[in-house]
Amino acid sequence: MFTAFLIKYAEIGIKGKNRYLFEDALVHQIKFALKKCEGKFLIHKSQGRIHVEALEDFDFEETVEHLKRVFGISGICPVVYAEDEGFEKLCDTVVRYLDDVYPDKNKSFKVHSRRARKDYPMESMEINAAMGEAILHAYPEMSVDVHEPEILLNIEIREKIYIYSETIPGPGGMPVGTGGKAMLLLSGGIDSPVAGYMIAKRGVKLDAVYFHAPPYTSERAKQKVVDLAKAVSRYTGPVWLHIIHFTDIQLYIHEKCPHEELTIIMRRYMMRIAEQIAKETGCLGLITGESIGQVASQTMQSLIATNEVCELPVYRPLIGFDKKDIVEIAEQIGTFETSILPFEDCCTIFVAKHPVTKPNVKIIRRHEHNLDEKIEELVKTALDTKEVVVCT
Ligand code: ATP
Ligand code: MG
Repeated sequence: MFTAFLIKYAEIGIKGKNRYLFEDALVHQIKFALKKCEGKFLIHKSQGRIHVEALEDFDFEETVEHLKRVFGISGICPVVYAEDEGFEKLCDTVVRYLDDVYPDKNKSFKVHSRRARKDYPMESMEINAAMGEAILHAYPEMSVDVHEPEILLNIEIREKIYIYSETIPGPGGMPVGTGGKAMLLLSGGIDSPVAGYMIAKRGVKLDAVYFHAPPYTSERAKQKVVDLAKAVSRYTGPVWLHIIHFTDIQLYIHEKCPHEELTIIMRRYMMRIAEQIAKETGCLGLITGESIGQVASQTMQSLIATNEVCELPVYRPLIGFDKKDIVEIAEQIGTFETSILPFEDCCTIFVAKHPVTKPNVKIIRRHEHNLDEKIEELVKTALDTKEVVVCT
């Protein structure tokens, strides 16, 4: 029955001259999201709205599922288009519409019509009254409530006539691309994909970096990260995943530094390398899945140590979240199942039995000097040999 969707978006932050940027980004993201759906769609903006019109048969549920992943959409209204064949025909169409959408007629309603085309022979108040009467005549069990109707029946008279009354909630947020780009440190765990999702929801495009340490981390662990990047890309559009071969750096740290500080020093090198790629690719910040106190490397003292090696801001959207809340989001966005696949993302030889939980930055820096001889060259090689996988 439905042949189109009216896309509603929140207007906060998009008033004034930036509005078209917001709308264009939204249209772009909707086009990307619907590429994977059955059917052809025409997506256009007109008079402060975005319309998604199906040009051929399409799968309603699938299309709605995809639209629900487009940040910036606050509501999705399925619309019936009717030709203008006179008011009586329109009443018949509306009566049939109500029957299809509301099998239970014990409901209150209000007709809200808008005449965008002034040559239509009736004014909106007249349309509301006459349409209300036609509906009550067809369904006497329905009632009119102009203050808090259960059904707000919208009728918009344009070239064609739009009929809609349902709003499916969208994800909210801002269209990806309106907020610049950031580099997500993406591991195979539960947290980092959720962190990326949350920042992307504010309109930020994502690139990602994964530190791979073969043979200590397997090909399947890498594939898992690619799969996670793909899962996130369903919301964000294509994610460029930079894969850094980290084994030699890790082994060198293992050889030269105290084992209790291994994780912290390793994390500092991850941040340094991620920042370098971020700067080269025009990213304005880094994103991690850290949350205070979750593990030894995420105490506030450890966070000082990992934070101080970066100039760019590090966004940690999960910083105050409990694990169970993170898991809930991971389940909602469809990354959880992949994240819990049992491929190790960190080999046990690199995990100390008693890692420092309160690292002293001065001492860490001193121990990092043990790496002076080769580390620069190792970092350079790691950057020179990085792989890039475009995940969509
Ligand atoms: P996650 O569930 O995201 O793996 P975690 O709880 O396992 O997080 P850590 O292993 O301490 O936490 O990592 C903290 C953050 O550092 C991760 O959320 C991620 O952003 C980044 N990170 C850790 N390991 C890697 C890696 N191999 N490649 C890229 N980023 C990583
Ligand atoms: Mg992890």
